[in-house]
Amino acid sequence: MKPSIEVSGSEIKQYRKQLHRDADKSGYYLNPDSEFTDNLVEGLIVNSKRYGYSSCPCRLSGGSREKDIDIICPCDYRDDDISQYGACYCALYVSEEVVNGKKELKPVPERRGHKKELKANKVSGVSIDVWRCKVCGYLCARKTPPDVCPVCKAKKERFEIFIKS
Ligand code: SF4
Repeated sequence: MKPSIEVSGSEIKQYRKQLHRDADKSGYYLNPDSEFTDNLVEGLIVNSKRYGYSSCPCRLSGGSREKDIDIICPCDYRDDDISQYGACYCALYVSEEVVNGKKELKPVPERRGHKKELKANKVSGVSIDVWRCKVCGYLCARKTPPDVCPVCKAKKERFEIFIKS
């Protein structure tokens, strides 16, 4: 098993500031749930340290920039997802309507397709389990499932192992 990658609170704070600036420039917002957002920011930092680029924290990386070029944050799918659903796949970036409560945050279907993701995963291997929310299909790579699904709010018990490390 690969050693775990440490991320400090100040690294998260600094990266979050940068993402805020990027979101602002694009006319988007970061998810107002700060704990949820910080978890995703931490995932981006871990991926940056592991791969050398900020691969999407909600998707499996293929382990090379070439394979992951479409899922380097902000991914190729962000704008279409925000326009259609009010949020990117991870719900890191959200629209003004979501922030103002005019649009409900709902699960965002994967545009990339699991096949491509699984193929990428097969090439690189993973060092951490991938969990799937059985209610909305949300995927996350972490040691244990989250207490509550950040997208549909289903409880921890509704998660299943999607890929075992
Ligand atoms: S889904 Fe969101 S967090 Fe993931 S890469 Fe796309 S923009 Fe970044």
